[in-house]
Amino acid sequence: MSKVKVAVNGYGTIGKRVADAVTMQDDMEIIGVAKTRPNYEAFVAHDKGYDVYTLTDRVDTMKQAGIPAAGTVNDMVANADIVVDCTPGGIGEKNKALYEKAGVKAIWQGGEDHELAGCSFNAEANYAEALGKDFVRVVSCNTTGLCRVVYPLDLEYGVKKVRVTLMRRAADPNDIKTGPINAIIPNPIKLPSHHGPDLKSILPHINIASTAVKLPTTLMHVHTLNIEMEKECTADDVKTLFAKQPRIRMIGQGISSTAEIMELGRDLGRPRGDMWENCIWEDSVTMYDEELYFFQAIHQESIVIPENIDAIRAMMELETDGAKSMAKTNKALGL
Ligand code: NAD
Repeated sequence: MSKVKVAVNGYGTIGKRVADAVTMQDDMEIIGVAKTRPNYEAFVAHDKGYDVYTLTDRVDTMKQAGIPAAGTVNDMVANADIVVDCTPGGIGEKNKALYEKAGVKAIWQGGEDHELAGCSFNAEANYAEALGKDFVRVVSCNTTGLCRVVYPLDLEYGVKKVRVTLMRRAADPNDIKTGPINAIIPNPIKLPSHHGPDLKSILPHINIASTAVKLPTTLMHVHTLNIEMEKECTADDVKTLFAKQPRIRMIGQGISSTAEIMELGRDLGRPRGDMWENCIWEDSVTMYDEELYFFQAIHQESIVIPENIDAIRAMMELETDGAKSMAKTNKALGL
């Protein structure tokens, strides 16, 4: 069977990781990536062997800089079966007409609204909903992290109410435009934050209230969760349930901060030190007054990467069983 042809539009934090993850699968391949400027990331993409495409008016600029642009974004899209749009939030929306005109399937990221695709995606929670779809949105890093814990808890014990505080990294490590900063920003100030409603785009029946602050760090988000459940369970039951999930890593062994989790990612030899799993502090999992509490850390730059691979497989109907797709993705990535 020929491999599914994937194009990545927007080769930044998420796009470069999606491209490398696609390359590691045996049922899909990268036919091109699109960059707007001939910066170091474009040169690395070129050196890795990716065909680098660009906007119509930038082809000459790319060529002059030493990157023989394979063509325009339109050319790239025309050659693809599916485009993973990883442009900055709000830009992806403008590309929809291009994808519709080319008759190509497209995946957007969490920076776009649910309505753009009409199907928001998390591999664990709603793989089947994306089967054969033309347009899908992989939800944000925070929402992906929430889905991965709320969904199995709801299946097993019935979730009555979720309360979550998200402590968010202010910027990605390479983002020099956002820093330097020295403040804690309640964001948004009006409550609840959009994260709860975003989870409902995948799990509409879940009762959830979220608040969020931004912190001066680049290393991961941390969530404090408090969950009321229908059925009785112990902290050990929850730890056992989490430990069984393919994209949850229980954290202990003296790891007391996000800095050490990122170090663990590097020690494990992960590409770019990425941590694709939710990292839950095992010792934090507590039943108090019949409610569940725990802390989890989310690596914003990489957590959605396996979900993008599964979304491709579902939309292209390469695999109808979500669990099988997740297992295949995880194995290929080394997760
Ligand atoms: P980024 O800024 O790191 O990368 C975006 C890339 O797109 C850049 O290389 C930029 O040059 C390029 N680009 C800009 N306009 C373009 C255009 N018109 N055509 C082609 N390329 C264009 O952004 P990112 O952090 O990778 O975010 C991408 C999407 O992923 C957003 O929707 C974001 O909300 C979402 N997301 C980001 C994170 C994160 O923590 N970084 C996590 C999950 C989801």
